[in-house]
Amino acid sequence: MKLNVIQPEKVFKCSQCGTCCSHIRGMMPREDKEFIQKMAYGKLPLVQLVPIEKMSFPLWDWEAKRFKKWQHEVNVDGKIKPSRGILDLNSNKAIIVTYFMDSDACPFLKDKKCSIYYTKRAYICRLYPFNRGPFLDVGSKPKKENMFGTCGAMDPLMPLIPETYDDMVKFLSKAFPDGSFENAIQFDYITEWVNKTIVNLMKQKLLRPAMNYPYEFFLKRFENAEKIDFTDFLEQCSYIDNKEELIKSFDENRDAKIKISEFLEQHS
Ligand code: SF4
Ligand code: SF4
Repeated sequence: MKLNVIQPEKVFKCSQCGTCCSHIRGMMPREDKEFIQKMAYGKLPLVQLVPIEKMSFPLWDWEAKRFKKWQHEVNVDGKIKPSRGILDLNSNKAIIVTYFMDSDACPFLKDKKCSIYYTKRAYICRLYPFNRGPFLDVGSKPKKENMFGTCGAMDPLMPLIPETYDDMVKFLSKAFPDGSFENAIQFDYITEWVNKTIVNLMKQKLLRPAMNYPYEFFLKRFENAEKIDFTDFLEQCSYIDNKEELIKSFDENRDAKIKISEFLEQHS
């Protein structure tokens, strides 16, 4: 099938309006909210630590560490708090997997500009206008209508995105020179990697998560337990050898690059 030819002026260009950074609470697809509400308050190993309406952008543990450092450099209180964690009954440790910024607008947004734009920032900052990539396994292939958040700069592009899945992915792979498409795919990859890693840790008996506890009791135990970040825990229990190397491979979007090039090869 002939591919749509994308003119350079038709590629995505962020207008830096700051809208996506000024409303960071609750920006998640409806089906994700429903799933979290139903399953993530104790029925799974990974437990939601805050009410869903308080949730804002998720930061992976290594991203939160960077944000905590940058907040001092730019004199900002990032209001960074744990958002999802696992209580390990083997070690009695509270393992923090993601953090969030407890704020309606991102605290790093000043005069509609990101005060840490020059840094790597977080995936969630760099994947917008996407709210998910096309390869995340959610039971069905995503359609263009449910892959994007609210972003005015997408208005001219939306009608040009093909409806059929294969053509859509080929189009998207060319239409986001800002890297947001690749970042969205890498973010989804990390989400799947975290879930698979938790299952593997349980199989290898390196982790025994508290599940099906009364939620308030769980929270109290989690609060009183010694805290450790997920990637530190992986290194401590020798599941991974080198945390820095793992984070470097994520930062370089190695997995997303492979997924995209495999897809394009298979559908050339
Ligand atoms: S991604 Fe969209 S909503 Fe966010 S700053 Fe750019 S144009 Fe505005
Ligand atoms: S850190 Fe910067 S890019 Fe990320 S949400 Fe905040 S203002 Fe936006």
